[in-house]
Amino acid sequence: MYEYEVTTAARNWRLEGVKTPSPSDVVTDVFASDVLTTEELRQRLSKPVWRSLQATMERGAAVDPAIADTVALAMKTWAMEKGATHYTHWFQPLTGLTAEKHESFVMPTSDGTAISQFSGKELIQGEPDASSFPSGGLRATFEARGYTAWDPTSPAFIMRHGNGATLCIPTAFASWTGEALDHKTPLLRSMETLHSASMKALGLFGINDVTKVSSTVGAEQEYFLIDEEFFYRRPDLMLCGRTLFGARPPRGQELEDHYFGSIPERILTFMTDAEHQLYALGIPIKTRHNEVAPGQYEVAPIFEQSNVAADHQQLVMQVLRNTARKYGLVCLLHEKPFAGINGSGKHVNWSVATDTGLNLLEPGDTPQTNMLFLFFCAAVIKAVDEHQDLLRTCVASASNDHRLGANEAPPAIMSIFLGDELTEIFERIVSGKGTASRKAGLLGLGSPVLPPLPRHAGDRNRTSPFAFTGNKFEFRAVGSSQSVSFPITVLNVIVAEAILDLAGKIEAKTKKKVAFDAALVDVLKDVYSHHGRIVFNGDGYSSKWHKEAEKRGLLSLPTAVDAIERLMDTKNTKLFSKANVLTDRELEARQEVMFDQYFKTVNIEGETTEWMARTQILPGALSFLREVSGINIPSRAVDRTASSLATTIDSLSDALERLGAANAELGGDDVHAKSRHMRDNVLPAMNDVRVAADALERIVAHDHWPLPGYREMLFVK
Ligand code: ADP
Ligand code: MG
Repeated sequence: MYEYEVTTAARNWRLEGVKTPSPSDVVTDVFASDVLTTEELRQRLSKPVWRSLQATMERGAAVDPAIADTVALAMKTWAMEKGATHYTHWFQPLTGLTAEKHESFVMPTSDGTAISQFSGKELIQGEPDASSFPSGGLRATFEARGYTAWDPTSPAFIMRHGNGATLCIPTAFASWTGEALDHKTPLLRSMETLHSASMKALGLFGINDVTKVSSTVGAEQEYFLIDEEFFYRRPDLMLCGRTLFGARPPRGQELEDHYFGSIPERILTFMTDAEHQLYALGIPIKTRHNEVAPGQYEVAPIFEQSNVAADHQQLVMQVLRNTARKYGLVCLLHEKPFAGINGSGKHVNWSVATDTGLNLLEPGDTPQTNMLFLFFCAAVIKAVDEHQDLLRTCVASASNDHRLGANEAPPAIMSIFLGDELTEIFERIVSGKGTASRKAGLLGLGSPVLPPLPRHAGDRNRTSPFAFTGNKFEFRAVGSSQSVSFPITVLNVIVAEAILDLAGKIEAKTKKKVAFDAALVDVLKDVYSHHGRIVFNGDGYSSKWHKEAEKRGLLSLPTAVDAIERLMDTKNTKLFSKANVLTDRELEARQEVMFDQYFKTVNIEGETTEWMARTQILPGALSFLREVSGINIPSRAVDRTASSLATTIDSLSDALERLGAANAELGGDDVHAKSRHMRDNVLPAMNDVRVAADALERIVAHDHWPLPGYREMLFVK
């Protein structure tokens, strides 16, 4: 009865009067129509104001307070023309989600009427009541409030809803003492770090026409769609975003008929709608397709400068979630909504580009660009090998643990897939063969000595957590629900450190009159002989690799708790503070928040498991047992059913007692101890409950089973 009402409520909730895309909308007209683009802004500002703002946007100069009012007025006018009634400072707290607090443009006047107002002060700085955002203790010692600061490098945009629209201003979120309380601030700082390190390296290569180097990111998003009818009948999906129970149906993804299959009508309508909204937000969505699991899909944009890409990625998740509801669907972004079925990741494609249009990870046509490429590639190899722990940590969460290490996702061991051709080039450099014809040309590249560098190598290794894919690296361990900001920050910082180190080594050699190309070859040789162990082109899922990785001394951090623990290692605090990206306190705050989220997530799952098992599954199974035992006809079927029911119900009950005991305590006072308790006691107890419950799902009569099963959820489209 209760279930029925919930479902009805969910089903009857519909947006009305919402603009859905019509086939006559021209995509190019729609694109960025809800974005305050630089062009739009330029047209609305006087030349001097525009120039001042441009200096901020392109070169990171501080915002001139004198122009703030003018810019704010232009923004407000544009937003109100677009139908906006409110504005918000839009930011990325450490929850990994986005936050917004809307303020109306309306300002009452003394004569009882109202005017619209939005001042420069309101544009530049906001003060959300932020005391409930996680801060890892950063705010506690000083000042409870935090403030948001306008990020002029990411464009403002309009978010629409049924009855209007809101002007969203991307902002950074910090404490009054200047400590970063969000994911954007360190990302912006890390871009600066990468920029200056790369500039130094480019200088060594004699490239002097570059003024800005940025990392670029294109993030592929995997997600599930299920009918909301089932979602609201599953407390685990509602509260935890994943199923805590569910026997595998006779058919899962074995037939491999879903991947790249034709997209069902209803799903395609949903996708078109979501894409239309994303286009309006200026998000260059490019591809869509069915993923491996039934009910699983993927969407990917064209890459952008990484700060903008990170903002856009948050919007992609938000639009997918909101739009699904219009079609009676729920979008699951969880890394592992269904056990035994493929999980969802977010492949973060990452590269480094100059404002002159050079992709530094793209093998080029000339020996010079090829040397540049090998240099940056070597920096990535060194960075990944030296900071395996950080790459594992920046994707660590309770939900991603179900995916990493399982046999269908990148393992929890970091390694790089380079492809055979590129690997061979590095191996030849190490063995000295690659430099044989150094006289004939720089590095001998383009000569018969070395094969031409692979361009867009065809090799599609899917099992590597970190793969070179022709002109970029693809970090595949990132979880589908997480913010990409911290992973990008880590990549920027570790690669910047390696670039500086390698550049310093080359410089030291050239100062001693070693020719530049010889110095470069020496450094490449040095990098690959020390860090080549991180390169693995084989099957990352195989148990052979796990053994091999151990022999190579690679780090294996199977659980998020192991990984998060490493964040405050001296190596890491030094790295982040030297790069001016995170102070020790800021880094520690992130560690605290990660642990906090880990333990709370598992705690909620543990209690939800107990609750569902006690109030739905056990009663369902007992009522079927009562029915079967009530059959007063001698029958082997009755005896067998009753006996296997009774045994499995007892196992469930025993496991429930253990889970109840584990749930009853928190395992300590600090988040470290609590997280370990969750991992070591709660998760195994949950698992035992699940094993018994899933066994019951296979023997209890369907009409006694209280939950929709995997069959319904995955195959109703
Ligand atoms: P896959 O075959 O892995 O599905 P695609 O070739 O379709 O991947 O591209 C994946 C993503 O990589 C896209 O979002 C694309 O924009 C992005 N990408 C391409 N080049 C770069 C680059 N230089 N920097 C960052 N991302 C890039
Ligand atoms: Mg990919």
